[in-house]
Amino acid sequence: MIRTLLITGGAGFIGSNFVHHWCETYPDDRVVVLDALTYAGNRKTLAKLENSNNFRFVQGNICDRSLVDSLFREEKIDTVAHFAAESHVDRSILGPDAFIQTNVVGSFTLLESFRYFWLEQGKPDTYRFLHVSTDEVYGSLELDDPAFCENTPYAPNSPYSASKAGSDHLARAYYHTYGLPTIITNCSNNYGPYHFPEKLIPLMCINILLGKPLPVYGDGQNIRDWLYVGDHCQALDTVLHKGKPGETYNIGGNNEVKNLDLVYKLCELMDELAPDLPVKPAKELITFVKDRPGHDRRYAIDATKIKTELGWTPQETVDGGLRRTITWYLNNREWWQPLLSKDYQAYYDQVYGVK
Ligand code: NAD
Repeated sequence: MIRTLLITGGAGFIGSNFVHHWCETYPDDRVVVLDALTYAGNRKTLAKLENSNNFRFVQGNICDRSLVDSLFREEKIDTVAHFAAESHVDRSILGPDAFIQTNVVGSFTLLESFRYFWLEQGKPDTYRFLHVSTDEVYGSLELDDPAFCENTPYAPNSPYSASKAGSDHLARAYYHTYGLPTIITNCSNNYGPYHFPEKLIPLMCINILLGKPLPVYGDGQNIRDWLYVGDHCQALDTVLHKGKPGETYNIGGNNEVKNLDLVYKLCELMDELAPDLPVKPAKELITFVKDRPGHDRRYAIDATKIKTELGWTPQETVDGGLRRTITWYLNNREWWQPLLSKDYQAYYDQVYGVK
């Protein structure tokens, strides 16, 4: 089946990786990207696709109901892959408003607009609304707790995760109330190319290259479950093709790592892969900073359902994925260097308090 997709947030980290994945894998499908180009969106990431007849980029806000209505009708969208979000926990602590607007009101606007379009079209059962979400909605685990599964109760702890939880509940309610074919995915921490410099892995790689301190929150013992972004895109592709409307699928890499161990690993790999580092060994740059308020201790995903029901498993190891990611940052300075703007620096100083 040839599809016409609306990919929201397609100029961000995971969204852009997904756009490239989809356009390469299904060149006959039409892809329309809707992205507001906030600080986290970068149109250059999609430059390679701009001349393709099957691709269209629209700069706009998912909260803009008339724009979203007109896109569904003009393009006859049958599949929504909804990535657009304010996505950074630290920024949600400094200013939660944008998180409620985009993540809750924006998701509601898309769902409501898609519902009317789907009704007008006679409720086709091939239509899909894929709501891309996070494992952070489940809250924090103790060291000996079992990993999050699809029926773990929601217990979000940050304004970011609370706003994502709100949008997950809306996506679920639209299936149960109206029969709209929504599917929710909750994924662990991603890493890979096109990741904005504020997030842990690109932040460490870039600071090592610049010889700047590597800020580690608290004691560095917080645990995250890491997944290479290409594996996430393949999982979302599988869910769109084989997933059941009304279901939730957890996606994870089964790679639990303490933050401090991850930073040590990055330092070792950078010592090996990057020529002429200003400070070597890079681990000398590690600097402990005051912990993030309400910092969740551990996240871990049980991805048994997507494996057994849909046949997806991650392909990349942490070592392999980190090597690919570091190599990408080494070869793509012109992508990330302009992002280290004055605004970014001001935000960075406010959060970490280290220069
Ligand atoms: P990102 O911050 O890199 O990208 C978000 C994109 O959304 C940007 O291009 C931005 O311009 C766009 N955007 C923001 N507000 C918008 C609005 N109002 N209207 C239109 N576009 C808007 O985020 P990401 O890391 O790629 O995350 C994508 C999705 O995946 C999010 O929903 C996030 O919650 C979810 N997720 C992320 C991770 C992760 O590790 N990064 C893990 C699990 C789930």
